[in-house]
Amino acid sequence: MTSAAINKISCDVVILGGGASGIGAALAAARNGSSVIIVDAGPMVGGELVSGIPVDGCISSAGEWVVGGIVRELFDECDRLGGYIGPINDFRSLNVVAVDPEIMKIAVIGLLHRAGVRLMLYSFADNVVMENDRIAGLVVAARGRRYLLEASVFIDASGDGDLAIAAGATFDKGDPDTGELQPLTLMFRMVGVDTERLLRFVRDNPENAGLGEFKGLGKSRAECAQALYEQGLAKVFFVSDGPLMKQAIAEGYLHSSSMIGITPTSIARREVSLNTTRYVADATNTRTLSGAFPELAKQAWQAADFARKRIPGFESAVFSAFAPRVGIRETRRVKGEYQLSDVDVAEGRKHDDGIAKGAHEIDVHLAGTGHYRTPIKDGGSYDIPYRTLIPKGIANAFVIGRCFSSSRIAHSTARVMGTCLAMGQAAGTAAAMAAKRNDTNFDLRQVDVPVLRDVLKSQGAVLDGTK
Ligand SMILES: Cc1cc2nc3c(=O)[nH]c(=O)nc-3n(C[C@H](O)[C@H](O)[C@H](O)COP(=O)(O)OP(=O)(O)OC[C@H]3O[C@@H](n4cnc5c(N)ncnc54)[C@H](O)[C@@H]3O)c2cc1C
Repeated sequence: MTSAAINKISCDVVILGGGASGIGAALAAARNGSSVIIVDAGPMVGGELVSGIPVDGCISSAGEWVVGGIVRELFDECDRLGGYIGPINDFRSLNVVAVDPEIMKIAVIGLLHRAGVRLMLYSFADNVVMENDRIAGLVVAARGRRYLLEASVFIDASGDGDLAIAAGATFDKGDPDTGELQPLTLMFRMVGVDTERLLRFVRDNPENAGLGEFKGLGKSRAECAQALYEQGLAKVFFVSDGPLMKQAIAEGYLHSSSMIGITPTSIARREVSLNTTRYVADATNTRTLSGAFPELAKQAWQAADFARKRIPGFESAVFSAFAPRVGIRETRRVKGEYQLSDVDVAEGRKHDDGIAKGAHEIDVHLAGTGHYRTPIKDGGSYDIPYRTLIPKGIANAFVIGRCFSSSRIAHSTARVMGTCLAMGQAAGTAAAMAAKRNDTNFDLRQVDVPVLRDVLKSQGAVLDGTK
């Protein structure tokens, strides 16, 4: 099926992966003067941004916006198109930002198109061509043709580290001791939900929901449930040790899961997304990944039935959509010049070479009903150092998003989409600065980080002044 002849395409910056981190990188690199190609194996860009989950990591538990720039532009674009629901406090520990995933699809493609980013979809990258410690080209297979994409800078936004690892980078996968990986989840949505009834049920039965986990809220569980009710938006986190879920799991009516995370996706459609299905598999193995879909679809259909029959507010709700793909939380973490550590995130540490910020709680989903969650100290934020984006041993590549250089615990917070977009903006901006030099010996370690930080701040990024 694949021709031996190779077709060469050149640009300044090649990005592998069109999820949240790749989108942030592509927009930043293109707007800072680079010609940019995104390569993705899938049929569209957007990743989990278009799956119905809320964007986390934008606003800390203490309530400060800790990312800006491209993240805010995407939200503004959703707002302009009528698909922005906005910030919501879950009165557990998070401030999330909810959007309509269908509108987000239009916002993402519109911004990329206007920035002049080229897309190479349906295209699988399976190798690199190296010249000493530099990547000379990314080898891509697409429908019987092979391409060599040549560029000054390569950005690995693949989630799995495919590009950096092909170029010789080392990595950890899941738990370094046990190999345990966070489960896969297929998101789905339901329309026709009565939000007031749902929130009233939570207010009157708060033992079913995760509430008040961030102590800085200063409210009892019942007060949190009341505040959630008054907020009036369907952001509910049902927990497996509450009677509602516990009983259904024990009966075998509901699959084993730590949660049913409900988020509004459209006020007009009275639609919410549900984050609950679970399948443990290594997503870097295509065979096991393919096996996940039938089981997750079955769980989703069953969970929709459970919702209709047992969750007040869902009585007349109708299944409306699956996410475009099975969601992958965790695979490989590439080893970089610095590995963001457990303490860095837990303590909310700041770094001189901080180029983005994270603020999501430590959040490791375990198999079955297990779930390890801890808010960042004082509900604050931590810095993502520039060095965590540079894979060891490679001169001209960045690694961003859920495969950037971090411990497992640090990954569990920094993997969320607000942080991925911000990391992407930083890497794309630095890549454009490097590409402009036109110097084939330039190493990304030589980027002037204080200048990079100034450029990022001038383009809206939040790098200083947060708790
Ligand atoms: C079920 C679920 C719920 C979540 N809940 C939340 C939430 O509530 N809020 C939040 O902010 N975050 C949440 N997250 C985390 C977050 O969505 C992801 O960690 C984040 O979107 C990862 O973005 P990324 O750009 O790093 O990678 P991805 O979105 O995984 O994108 C990687 C892209 O690279 C492409 N690719 C990979 N390898 C190749 C290759 N060799 N060739 C071609 N293309 C390739 C893939 O097709 C993919 O499109 C959740 C994740 C999951 C799975």
